[in-house]
Amino acid sequence: MRSTGPQGRPAGGGEGTRAVRAGLPEPVRHEPTLPGPVFAAHYHLPGEPTGPYTYGRDENPTWTLLERAVGELEAPGREGVETLVFASGMAAVSSVLFSQLRAGDAVVLPSDGYQALPLVRAQLEAYGIEVRTAPTGGDAQLDVLDGAGLLWIETPSNPGLDVCDIRRLVEAAHARGARVAVDNTLATPLGQRPLELGADFSVASGTKQLTGHGDILLGYVVGGDAEAMAAVRRWRKIVGAIPGPMEAWLAHRSLATLQLRVDRQSATALAVAEALRGRSEVTGLRYPGLPDDASHMIAARQMRRFGCVVSFTLPTRARADRFLDALRLVDAATSFGGVRSTAERRGRWGGDAVPEGFIRFSVGAEDPEDLAADVLRALDESAD
Ligand SMILES: *Cc1c(COP(=O)(O)O)cnc(C)c1O
Repeated sequence: MRSTGPQGRPAGGGEGTRAVRAGLPEPVRHEPTLPGPVFAAHYHLPGEPTGPYTYGRDENPTWTLLERAVGELEAPGREGVETLVFASGMAAVSSVLFSQLRAGDAVVLPSDGYQALPLVRAQLEAYGIEVRTAPTGGDAQLDVLDGAGLLWIETPSNPGLDVCDIRRLVEAAHARGARVAVDNTLATPLGQRPLELGADFSVASGTKQLTGHGDILLGYVVGGDAEAMAAVRRWRKIVGAIPGPMEAWLAHRSLATLQLRVDRQSATALAVAEALRGRSEVTGLRYPGLPDDASHMIAARQMRRFGCVVSFTLPTRARADRFLDALRLVDAATSFGGVRSTAERRGRWGGDAVPEGFIRFSVGAEDPEDLAADVLRALDESAD
């Protein structure tokens, strides 16, 4: 069974309506609305070994429903779009890069993107692929596109929260014969829909806000080109980077609250950003939803919600560490997108080009007043 197109049920117009029903099968009397996870390494298969379900590395009915759901959110109403789920965001990212590029090809990657991209770059180069980089903001990708086979963009970028104009870059890339993949992790499909903006692939880590509870790793790739997606599917089969049925089922269950979570977390992120804006010790405050943010104009054109991550810089590493210690409602942890707020001093990992006092703050589902008050109190208590 392929995860294409909307199912036969009447779809409401709104995104919340779509999210609560996404991917559900036709109701069956005495069966649950969302069927439970199917745990199977192999399926009963006498005679000719034909699909849909033959072996657990190739297909699983729990993935099928989740893939349908993600496809409905990423490309509602569009036929011929295929979705594949993976064990993690990096499994999804790698599946596109390594299935689409060959020795001698060139690819453009963001210079300020997810922290594992430099590792990916080294691996691509080891396979004889030319890697060029460009920052997310400022259209610098246009200068390095000639002769490239794939343009990879991450918008908003993690952790710097720059934004690029997807439609504009897609037009430029397609005019030069390059495909475009968008890392949609930070935005989620309720924040932006890259395929509608012309991208060939929307790729994401479902570990973050898509599933939103900080308890599973997941990734997905959505694409409209059957041949390209067949190569991504083949890659998943070769590498075996498949999600467990339990993770896939938990992810699907979490999608029902996606709109609630994303709406709440983006509204609170704006409130936190506004609270931070009044503080003299805070510099480099970024949130694409702030009307005066450098990313806001482009973000407002292509995004419907601006995400749950706010970033800013405190004067020193010590001050940033004291601030993080003083927070009571915010867990010191990496990753983002969960219902419980988390924050970290990003420089502790190395790899990101950020100041020592740079904080990536992921806004959860707490009450906005409580969270803003906790942040302001922690800033006061951590002052020199
Ligand atoms: C987390 C993240 C990834 C990788 O996802 P995992 O699920 O951790 O493998 C890729 N891209 C972005 C933008 C991310 O934030």
